[in-house]
Amino acid sequence: MEIKKGIAVSPGIAIAKALVIDAEDYRIPRRSILASAKVGEVKKVREAFRKAVAELEKTDSQSLAESKIKDIFAVHLRFLRDRSLRKKITDLVYNDLLTAEYAVSTTLRDIANHFASVQDAYISERAADIYDIEKRLLKHLLGKKREDAEHISYEVVVIAHELSPTQTASFDRSFIKGFATDAGGRTSHTAIVARSLGIPAVVGLENVTSNVNPAAMVIIDGNRGVVVIDPDAATLKQYEEYAIEFVRLEHELDSLRDLDAITRDGVEIKLLGNIEFPSEAEMIIDKGGHGIGLYRTEFLYLNSETEPTEKDHYDAYSQVVKTLGNMPVIIRTMDLGADKYTQSRRFVREPNPFLGLRSIRFCLQNLMMFKTQLRAILRASVLGDLRIMFPLVSSLHELRQAKMILRDVMEDLDEDSIAYNADVPIGIMIETPSAALTANILATESDFFSIGTNDLIQYTLAVDRGNERVSTLYSGADPAVLQLLRSVIHDASKARISVSLCGEMASEPEYVMMLLGLGFRTFSLATPMIPEIKKLVRSVTIESCNALARKVLGMNSEREVTNYIRNAAIKVLPEVF
Ligand code: PEP
Ligand code: MG
Repeated sequence: MEIKKGIAVSPGIAIAKALVIDAEDYRIPRRSILASAKVGEVKKVREAFRKAVAELEKTDSQSLAESKIKDIFAVHLRFLRDRSLRKKITDLVYNDLLTAEYAVSTTLRDIANHFASVQDAYISERAADIYDIEKRLLKHLLGKKREDAEHISYEVVVIAHELSPTQTASFDRSFIKGFATDAGGRTSHTAIVARSLGIPAVVGLENVTSNVNPAAMVIIDGNRGVVVIDPDAATLKQYEEYAIEFVRLEHELDSLRDLDAITRDGVEIKLLGNIEFPSEAEMIIDKGGHGIGLYRTEFLYLNSETEPTEKDHYDAYSQVVKTLGNMPVIIRTMDLGADKYTQSRRFVREPNPFLGLRSIRFCLQNLMMFKTQLRAILRASVLGDLRIMFPLVSSLHELRQAKMILRDVMEDLDEDSIAYNADVPIGIMIETPSAALTANILATESDFFSIGTNDLIQYTLAVDRGNERVSTLYSGADPAVLQLLRSVIHDASKARISVSLCGEMASEPEYVMMLLGLGFRTFSLATPMIPEIKKLVRSVTIESCNALARKVLGMNSEREVTNYIRNAAIKVLPEVF
């Protein structure tokens, strides 16, 4: 038995056999062969090409409905039939005496890297095709399909070096009971997806992939951040009991569904939910939420090989708005880039992606995509209380540009006589120190603010939110973060616009009293966490929260603040900790 401690990111207990999966950029080691083996090895390359071509021809002839996918397969076929490509690979095997799989992998990755570095979106996006061809050839060469989580049909816990938000979003909940990764942080998008889907998860374990043998029994404790490999009988029994207790507590919390989120001294708090997929909208109502404070629409792009059409967008937004009835639905325009990328852009590398072409910057450089989405949002705006929010705005200029594009789209709709709400509220996320420090200026042209602390903390403290090596430095209790939160609340209330908090801080019980004391009255959080936070809200008085906030604002270290707020929260609600 081995016990490993990581970062707890999604609550619950999972006990199942391990499925250890490869990272997407799994590297084939450079291995030599004997000169006597080279003819046989070249044959293996030719055979892999032959099988890959036959496979694609077969798929192509099976009358693919989706013409875009047909086009993609046609491109793959052209590459696979290219004699010069095949010769390059067989030369590496024959002349340099390298294995067939290494020759295939290194040659195709060289080509992919070259494509990805070209400053032309069409060409750089072709890198993804080359990686797909590499995968296909390797599958034939290695003789077995590499294990992947997509096609699993029995219960497992996934063990991986790293999982992308896209991979996590595609997990089938009925078979994938939990996951553990070497990399990652508490507010990484992979962690956020796990929480939304209710999959117990522990990240930041550093070397769990090398500790777990395939098919070993593994326990994932997403409450305590613990992973147990090959548990003994007593440990297994103890965790089975924990799992039962966790489910019992969840049921108990669900009984709060129809009660108000109101403090003991009568102050009403709004608890909205964050969603990534339209299917989650129903859960907000089940959990007693008051609307959607953050719809991460970029997830529409992540799982799809092709770009969503205006209809795809419209169908998703109208489904969500209709489900919520007259409750507010804040649709955040696509926050692509950094760790969330479209399938076609997944190999377009940037040296510092979190400081690169992400969020609103990406939209302003990809106007066609942006306008398609805005048009669909505006069309859905007549169906309910829909509001629009722009992510990662870092200057007034950027906000003005985004609003100008929105006005253009409104004019297009006018020309086509299509209805929309011309007074749709337009808000922004405060996620960068520049936005927080100029909130008084941004407030003059925004209808509301929502503070995205996941990014605000990362950019204020210069700590990557997804990097386990610096995860202990990432904290919402840092005095620098508290100063910014206080200042944004001050500027928003002076400008008489609403301000909410939609980062993961809102779903962490230890922060809630401090945030109430700082003046927040609206939170948007991971939907499964709404009952727990409601219970906490109903257990405190605003007076005590104000006193707590005054106290921590006078502290000068993160550790002092953390200890103080945690002790205060434990006193109020010991069973949650
Ligand atoms: C945030 O940054 O706090 C936020 C809510 O947005 P995301 O987590 O999607 O970056
Ligand atoms: Mg963000």
